[in-house]
Amino acid sequence: MTAEQLQEFRDLLEVTLAELRASLNASTAAAAPVSPDNAIGRLTRQDAMQAQQMALEVRRRNQARLQQVEAAIRKLESGDYGICVRCEEEISLARLRVRPEARVCVRCAQGG
Ligand SMILES: [Zn+2]
Repeated sequence: MTAEQLQEFRDLLEVTLAELRASLNASTAAAAPVSPDNAIGRLTRQDAMQAQQMALEVRRRNQARLQQVEAAIRKLESGDYGICVRCEEEISLARLRVRPEARVCVRCAQGG
């Protein structure tokens, strides 16, 4: 990978990291347990709990992705960014542009 390409992915990862952090901060309240005081009727409480479950699920996914993005940034620093952890081939630039935090190449991701 050229220095320009590495810079491109560093920028992409930093932007993704900032977006994930902002989204995690913004969703803290939505993912908080539903307080019984807030519920008026049974349906309302159920709706609130369903919304909370969905918010929690989104947070879990964002948190997992955040860790992958941070790991990818560490790899940029250690110089093994863009290398498939399974087959040790280079991950294609097209794949990295869609998922800059990708750890495996397309073939390994598909189980090949
Ligand atoms: Zn691979």
